[in-house]
Amino acid sequence: MVAAVGELARYLVGEDPLRIEHHWQVLTKGGFYRGGPVLSSAVAGLDQALWDIAGKARGVPVHELLGGPVRESARVYAWIGGDEPAHVAEEASAQVEAGFSAVKMNGSAQLEALGPPAATREIARRVEAVRNAIGEERDVVVDFHGRMSKGMARRALQALEPYHPLFVEEAVRPEFSRDLRTLVESTSIPLATGERLFSRWDFRDVLSTGIAVAQPDPSHAGGISEARRIAVMAEAWDVALAPHCPLGPVALAPSAPACR
Ligand SMILES: [Mg+2]
Repeated sequence: MVAAVGELARYLVGEDPLRIEHHWQVLTKGGFYRGGPVLSSAVAGLDQALWDIAGKARGVPVHELLGGPVRESARVYAWIGGDEPAHVAEEASAQVEAGFSAVKMNGSAQLEALGPPAATREIARRVEAVRNAIGEERDVVVDFHGRMSKGMARRALQALEPYHPLFVEEAVRPEFSRDLRTLVESTSIPLATGERLFSRWDFRDVLSTGIAVAQPDPSHAGGISEARRIAVMAEAWDVALAPHCPLGPVALAPSAPACR
């Protein structure tokens, strides 16, 4: 990705930095090979830098350039790992104590494509431990990082139903995102995905599957410019937005441009 930024910078040096949309179009469509995590992340970093320059040039925060702030705060969850049921319950309690109203955890370690009953029960046991620790007024999000096959996911989601997760994230690998409708229709649990989708075209067929939450990462999916466009598309499908951001404080800032 560093090499990609270097290549793209050769085009940008000397250009007017305030033509963000024009540069975004050239950077993403000027070459023969398009999209994917490397190019889209490189463009994301450059796009964020261009928005930063535009804000500084005009003496305003970026949200002023996007229509102004729309909220005073945003709900966040705390990551609690998820390898040991006893440990996750402890972690969840600590985060509730620290003031968080929601936690996010690993749904499982690595899984076979289809497992025995014990594998499904183990998944449910961790989430049950967290639900018991945080009570019914708070939320738990379960992230599978695409570790389940579709067959395994149908079983696991059914086993998680009693614990009412806020949503289940990346139940299956991103290459199967456009097939999520069968899972959506098999469960009442809201499904989320998107941290490994890198453009509005990647999201297009996924938003129509009935997922509940889209999670574009503004540091991978083409920057503030493209994350904003994905958000607009998501709204048209009644899909909520939770910008993905595990990377650090610099990446966090463009993930919350709608906040004052
Ligand atoms: Mg995730």
